[in-house]
Amino acid sequence: VWSNCLLFIKDNIQPQAYKTWFEPIVAVKLTDNALSIQVPSKFFYEWLEEHYVKILKVSLTKELGEHAKLVYIIKMENTYGNKQPFTEKIPSSNRGALKSQDVDVPLNNKSPELRNPFVIPGIRNVKIESQLNPNYSFENFLEGDSNRLARSAGLAVAAKPGGTSFNPLLIFGGVGLGKTHLAHAIGVDIKDKYPEKTVLYISAEKFTQQYIDSVKKNNRNDFIHFYQIIDVLIIDDVQFLSGKTGTQDVFFHIFNHLHQNGKQVILTSDKAPVDMQDIEQRLLSRFKWGLSAELQHPDFETRVSILKNKLYRDGVEMPDDIIEYVAKNIKTNVRELEGAIISLIAQSSFNKKEITLDLARVIVEKFVKNTKREVSIDYIQKVVSDYFQMDVDTLQSKTRKRHIVQARQLAMFFAKKFTKASLASIGSQIGKRDHATVLHACKTVDNLSSTDKQFRKYVEDITKKLSV
Ligand code: ADP
Ligand code: MG
Repeated sequence: VWSNCLLFIKDNIQPQAYKTWFEPIVAVKLTDNALSIQVPSKFFYEWLEEHYVKILKVSLTKELGEHAKLVYIIKMENTYGNKQPFTEKIPSSNRGALKSQDVDVPLNNKSPELRNPFVIPGIRNVKIESQLNPNYSFENFLEGDSNRLARSAGLAVAAKPGGTSFNPLLIFGGVGLGKTHLAHAIGVDIKDKYPEKTVLYISAEKFTQQYIDSVKKNNRNDFIHFYQIIDVLIIDDVQFLSGKTGTQDVFFHIFNHLHQNGKQVILTSDKAPVDMQDIEQRLLSRFKWGLSAELQHPDFETRVSILKNKLYRDGVEMPDDIIEYVAKNIKTNVRELEGAIISLIAQSSFNKKEITLDLARVIVEKFVKNTKREVSIDYIQKVVSDYFQMDVDTLQSKTRKRHIVQARQLAMFFAKKFTKASLASIGSQIGKRDHATVLHACKTVDNLSSTDKQFRKYVEDITKKLSV
């Protein structure tokens, strides 16, 4: 029956539309005059109802007669965030629980409920796992001057998701300053206030991976549909999308769809939009539509209260002077602040030592030293160009002069060694080169430093400069 319907439909609509909207459908079963078909997503179902209901009705009536019925079964892939694969049958609005699995093909029926099936109570709950960490709550996100704007914007968004001008809300700031925590907190709060809303937290990296998988498996459309039914989409570390044009493209479309439908988008990034590299202009301009709020380095008081809160939650007591010592000496990063306290606790309990100021000194010193290694690509370029007495522009220039090429290759090599940036992102930051150039640079430096004494000295000198 279904293949006959398809033949008829195929003859009557655009080939591309047929491919997109009808090929993915699987006929599941036929009972009496009701045909069940499986569709990839709720959005898909909505689209079919919106655009192809007539042709479906006509083709089905031809096959099954006047009383033909169509039942949609919505398939959710477990790839896109929800842990359990599940299928959900769409019940009809006006038939009560007993016959709840039928959706009549509403040819002449202009009832608003059927035109917009998602307002029907009871079928809105698409079970997408939100992937939220309940510990990352607003309550646990301590307020200070450094985060006041971002935090209150987050609260405003959580109170009225999609209903403020903060859409998208972009939270940006350096590592370990609480971007991920705050993004979760907004999601957790929304879930609390609006349990029926579909909230999804995902890292840009995972999003990219899913997208690449979907292209490989030929279900890019499912991927898009999946994201288009979300009410609150939280994407963490969007700087990861830099240079990834395919993913940026698909995200652009998803973003537009969500935004147009009043859905909330929350993004985090390690940079302000103006400083983002290799993100398409049209996407950047979207990022700026809402509010960009910065998380800055927390001041001393905030650091102390973060530590006290953490200790309190872990049930650990610690003298104030030690807490203050740690807070005074670890300034740049909340994650490290917490890390230092954790290793302090661990040290004292492993060695059965009391937590003393001396122990705190030793541990904090280690932390401060270790963290010095986290240098930025900008800093590396500066150090390398200073070393060779040129300016950064020269280092980045297109010239093929040997000593400049060498300096550039060294900068790339150290960027690979001392940062977590990908080859592509290193390339784009050091004079807009591609990842192959960076890879080549790293190999060249490796080779030269084992064969060329003078070159090895360069590497050693610069390593020293970068490590102090
Ligand atoms: P980012 O995503 O910016 O790198 P995270 O959100 O992972 O940083 O934060 C690092 C750690 O610091 C987390 O354990 C988080 O709970 C904690 N943290 C950051 N800011 C705060 C804050 N204002 N109050 C309490 N904890 C915080
Ligand atoms: Mg993070």
